[in-house]
Amino acid sequence: MKLNTKIIIMVAEIALIPWVVGGLLAFFSAQEQLNASTYMRLDSLATLQKTYLQDALKNRLDTFELIAGSSRAIGLMRDFNASPTVANKRKIQDLIETPGKAPHIKRVFIATNEGVVIASSDPAVLGAHIQGEDYFKRGLKANDESVLRKETADTVVQYIAGPLMQDGRIEGVAVMVVDADDIVSVSRDFSGLGKTGETLLIEKYNGDSIRFITPTRFNAHTALSLVVKSSEVDVPAEHAVAGEEELFANLTDYRGVKVFAVTRFISSVGWGIVVKIDRSEAYAPIQQLQDLFLVIIAIVALLIVVITAVISRVITRPVNVLIAFANKIAQGDLSQSIVISSKDEVGELAVAFNTMATRLHESYTTLEKKVAERTNELAEKTAEARNSEAAALNIAADLKDEEEKLAEEKTKAEELANDLKKFKLALDNASDQVTITDPEGTVVYANAAVERITGYTPEEAIGKKSGALWKSPMPPEYYKSLWHTIKERKETFIGEIENKRKNGTLYTAAISISPVLDNDGNVVFFVGLERDITKEKEIDIAKNEFISLASHQMRTPLTAINWYTEMLLGGDAGKLSVKQKEYFTEVYNAGRRMNEIIKAFLHILRLETGTQVKNFLPTDLVAIASSVTNELKLEAGKKKLKVVEKYEKPSLSVVTDADLARVIVQNFVSNALKYSKEGGEVVISLGSVAKGSSIAGTLIDRDSFLVSVSDSGIGIPEDVREKIFTKFFRADNAKVLDPNGNGLGLYMTKIMVDIIGGTVWFASKEGEGTTFYLLLPKEATTKVV
Ligand code: ADP
Repeated sequence: MKLNTKIIIMVAEIALIPWVVGGLLAFFSAQEQLNASTYMRLDSLATLQKTYLQDALKNRLDTFELIAGSSRAIGLMRDFNASPTVANKRKIQDLIETPGKAPHIKRVFIATNEGVVIASSDPAVLGAHIQGEDYFKRGLKANDESVLRKETADTVVQYIAGPLMQDGRIEGVAVMVVDADDIVSVSRDFSGLGKTGETLLIEKYNGDSIRFITPTRFNAHTALSLVVKSSEVDVPAEHAVAGEEELFANLTDYRGVKVFAVTRFISSVGWGIVVKIDRSEAYAPIQQLQDLFLVIIAIVALLIVVITAVISRVITRPVNVLIAFANKIAQGDLSQSIVISSKDEVGELAVAFNTMATRLHESYTTLEKKVAERTNELAEKTAEARNSEAAALNIAADLKDEEEKLAEEKTKAEELANDLKKFKLALDNASDQVTITDPEGTVVYANAAVERITGYTPEEAIGKKSGALWKSPMPPEYYKSLWHTIKERKETFIGEIENKRKNGTLYTAAISISPVLDNDGNVVFFVGLERDITKEKEIDIAKNEFISLASHQMRTPLTAINWYTEMLLGGDAGKLSVKQKEYFTEVYNAGRRMNEIIKAFLHILRLETGTQVKNFLPTDLVAIASSVTNELKLEAGKKKLKVVEKYEKPSLSVVTDADLARVIVQNFVSNALKYSKEGGEVVISLGSVAKGSSIAGTLIDRDSFLVSVSDSGIGIPEDVREKIFTKFFRADNAKVLDPNGNGLGLYMTKIMVDIIGGTVWFASKEGEGTTFYLLLPKEATTKVV
């Protein structure tokens, strides 16, 4: 409910309650007074009527007593009863007709105890039998004046009857019929009864009904004819005939109308008196008062409502403004401020609201900030938690991996241990000598073969320096080269060595020493394999000596053949025919080729047996290259080849064997010329290459000089590249272009390159050309084979 409505209701209640209470009090007190005065009036009227009636009845009865109680009448009746003669009857008749009776007496008659009228002032009833009449029956017992009868439509008469009795003996019944108008007239007196009031005289009728003796105010013909069933309605008459003398404020009368009534009872005749007035009439004065009061209350209520509405509007308007403001705040709009200029409590409330809104706005902003900060913190913490969770999961996963790995490694280690046992067994029993040393050369393992080859037991060997053990008579450069290879270049050293056994005898061994590196590339061990090749060596030497001898022996007759063939061709033995000349030319060429082969054989022999004299001296590679080019210019000219020389510097010096280097370059250039088609180009270039660069698929591991010879010739077929540096190999396309080769040039070249510590390789595309490379480290090292 709105405040406005509440105020209106409240004020109206407060203002109206005294009005209503006052009005009601006044009303009830007026009603009370009215009741009292109505009762008083009715009561006094009833008393008056009762007294009147009683007096009237008494008067009648007194009159009747004069007749019934007269001893003469009783005597005459006794006489008649004793002797019912006409004379005696006549005497009684005469007595009755005696003048002087009261005017309102209609007739008087006397009946015998049997109810036969024997004397009457009215001849009409003479001789009548009245033994069935109620007045007779009552009159036989005692004086009774309660029976009323209608004589005509509007006249009522009263029958007063009583016994003619003396000394307890009833001689007859006297009946006096009187005009009852004075009785009935009580109902015609309306004084003090307004418009609806009336006085009623009633009697019991037929046991369960009430009969109106008097006519009603509203129907003049109802005397002794209006009968109501007493049980039907609680009418005042009921109470009256029951002998109650009461005041009734709220009974319904015979008409069904609410009435005020007062009752009386006349016991001598059993009649009731009801003096009553309609409540509506009795209350008419206060009804007006009530109406007036209601009108006034209505007007006052209306006025109060209107005034209160105006006042409450004045009060609630700022309150509504406050409510609207509060609603805005509730919706989160804290930017508003309220304007109420009044200086009363509402004004103060408005100021308080504004302050509250400002504070709320401030704390809201702070709160928002804090919430944002907390949210960020939370987000960070959540992210951290997620990371830690992820980390934990990773760790768990890692741990699991680790566990699996450990298990795997354990298995591997066990397998390895088993393998190692096998390996150790194999190593122990290997026919070749196997030694393992630490990075300083101290023996940590030696197999059984060590004892067989050197005479030292493995136990003797372990813990000693290998160099000290075998006391090799090799030159210092050999060791320098060996250590450089295995320790600095961390590569396998392969060579032959002369060692001394425990018993002092020398032996030749083929050795292979390999460094074993850890993950960081540091040398952990050296593994040395050694085979006693003294015997093979001796056989080899013998074989080479035989080849050398054989070659030398072959050269002498070959030189003779070549020399004589030359003379024959020169015409020293006469002019040759064309055919002869042709044949001798073939012989001469074959001889020369044979010579070449023998020369190569001897050269190879020298190289392989190490009998080739080597001189490692500072050598100018540019000088070598240009001299070789110059020598072969004539050859190039024959095939109309363009020879290009590209040198990084006019002079590039390196410590090497100049003769071997020259033969290598010579082989490159002569092959390039040989396997080029006419009109092609041959490029000889020379320069330095830095460590880490890559040339035609080969990684340069040291700062070096690079000699390259390129041609635009036939190229080397893909499928034969592996065989290029092997003995006597010639590719098919080469054989087609030049059938005169022997396939030994590159074989020799490879041996020579190894001797001078260089590297050789090539790049080629069949039909397009070939480039051969020679790489020489700037800091030359030598390999001893
Ligand atoms: P030869 O040249 O006498 O045959 P080499 O040992 O010098 O013997 O060469 C072996 C083979 O290598 C040659 O037969 C040839 O098939 C191939 N070869 C060498 N150099 C070249 C080159 N520049 N172009 C094409 N093939 C070459």
